[in-house]
Formats: sequence, structure tokens, C-alpha cells
Amino acid sequence: MNGKRVEGKVAIVTGGGSGIGKAAALRLAEEGAKVCMLDRTPEEAEKVKAEIERLGGVAMVIETDVSQAEMVENGVKQAAEKWGRLDIVFANAGINGTWAPIETLEVEEWDKTLGINLRGTFLTVKYAVPYLKKNGGSIIITSSINGNRKFSNIGASAYSSSKAGQVAFMKMASLELAQFNIRVNAICPGAIKTNIGDNTEKAPELDKVDIPVEFPEGNHLLNGGTGEARQVGDLVLFLASDESSHITGTPIYIDGAESLLMGG
Ligand code: NAD
Repeated sequence: MNGKRVEGKVAIVTGGGSGIGKAAALRLAEEGAKVCMLDRTPEEAEKVKAEIERLGGVAMVIETDVSQAEMVENGVKQAAEKWGRLDIVFANAGINGTWAPIETLEVEEWDKTLGINLRGTFLTVKYAVPYLKKNGGSIIITSSINGNRKFSNIGASAYSSSKAGQVAFMKMASLELAQFNIRVNAICPGAIKTNIGDNTEKAPELDKVDIPVEFPEGNHLLNGGTGEARQVGDLVLFLASDESSHITGTPIYIDGAESLLMGG
């Protein structure tokens, strides 16, 4: 490896075992960061760790459910103390959760989606701030086009609310933490090829409220509207590095223009 863009930095990536988190972990490691993955499925994250080590990088895995405060506090502490600093936090772990009409969506399902996506983001940032304050740093939060520019995924009210909440939280945090030279930004991906479909429960009664919004025929979007996880990893690397040193408080869309055509 001859990466230099985040050389000597320490990064935490939640949900690093799959999809966008995996791609970001690999890109950060390729460019010189030590990467700690906090994931609730450590077996997958261990495979990413092995891949990073094969490439000459440094990584560790700590089994963590990001909705559990104690686990997050412990995971962040272990990473920062083992490597003596913390510079980059990628709060990315998330689920689609249950998509159902509002009147039948179980309260527990709402809580589960908000608990992982929004509370998990808060916990990750909360426990990282004391370490980031020492040298400054960059926090990147994975939101979505859903809840920000796109609202046609009927049934995804919990998911979209969690993703909108993440952007509001990012903006509040960016102002609060600027004085410590901590930047906070959100990325808003459109459709990206990952395993997130495995964490989507679509209720059978969804068709009662569905509004079918069809892509128009033709080649209107970049790459047909679907991105690769590695392209998102490149954006995370940019936001983590000094190349984005004056960017904070900003949602960045990475969707090939999908949300402009299908949302608005
Ligand atoms: P993915 O399912 O491939 O990866 C998600 C990772 O997060 C997995 O490793 C999983 O084990 C982990 N995870 C899930 N719940 C967790 C928890 N409670 N604690 C710790 N780890 C947990 O999905 P992905 O597409 O890479 O999703 C990453 C983020 O990107 C999510 O926040 C998702 O909402 C967002 N996103 C994805 C897309 C897309 O099209 N794939 C679009 C917009 C936003």
C-alpha cells in the first residue's frame, strides 16, 4: 500500500462488515488509516479485516450493536485507547427495517429502525466526541435520499424519519463541534448494490397504500441509477481526508441524479 490521504489516522466504521461500510473501511485502510469496525455480525467484519491485512493495512473488529449504549461506549474506547487517538468516525450501520402502512406498523418495529439508525448514530457520535476533541477530526453519517429528497417509498415511514433525523442531527453537531475542529457531514446515497435488502421486511398489506412510481424508460441516470459501494467509499474517504477541510454541516447526495428524477 502506498496510500497517503489518511496516513496515520485512526478510523471507526460502524457496519463495516458489509456494503458501504465495508467499502469505506477498505478505502480508508488502503489510504493509510487504522480501521476499527463495530458491527453486530463480527464474522463478516473479520473477513474485511483479513482483506485489509492482506493488503498490508491495520484493522480490528469489535462486536457491537450500535443501538446499545454500553457496547458503543466500550467499542469506541477500545479503538481509541489501543491506537492512542481517534480522527475519523463513519456512523454508517443501518437497516431498512419494516415497511408497512402506518396504522399496522408495529411500535416495536418503529423503535427498532429508529433505535439502530438514529439512536445508533447519536451513540456513535456521543462516545467518539471526547476522543475527537483532542486532535480534531471528521464525522461522516450515512443518511439516504429517502427522508431528504425522496418520499415515494410508501411504507418506509420509520426508515425515512430516521434518515431525516440523521441529517438534522448532523447539522446540529457540525455547529456544536466546529470550535474543536471536528467536521460533521452526511452522505445521502441512492440505490447502491449492497446486502441491505436482507434487512428489509415488507408487510403484505403494503400494496394497499403503495403509490407505484416507475422509472421512465431510457438512459437518464448515471450508471442506470445504481451505484457501487466503492464509489460511496471514495466519497467517505474524501470527507475523512484534509481534501474536504472546509466542508462541514452538509448532506452530500451520491445517487447519479436518481432523487432529482424520482423525488424532488
Ligand atoms: P448492508 O446491509 O450491506 O450493511 C449494513 C451493515 O451494518 C452490516 O454489516 C450489518 O451487520 C451492520 N449493522 C446492521 N445493524 C447493526 C447494528 N444494530 N449494530 C451494528 N451493526 C449493524 O447495507 P448498506 O447498504 O451497506 O447500508 C449501510 C448504510 O447505508 C445504512 O445506514 C443504510 O441505511 C444506508 N443506505 C444504503 C443504501 C443502499 O441502496 N444500499 C441507500 C441509502 C442509504
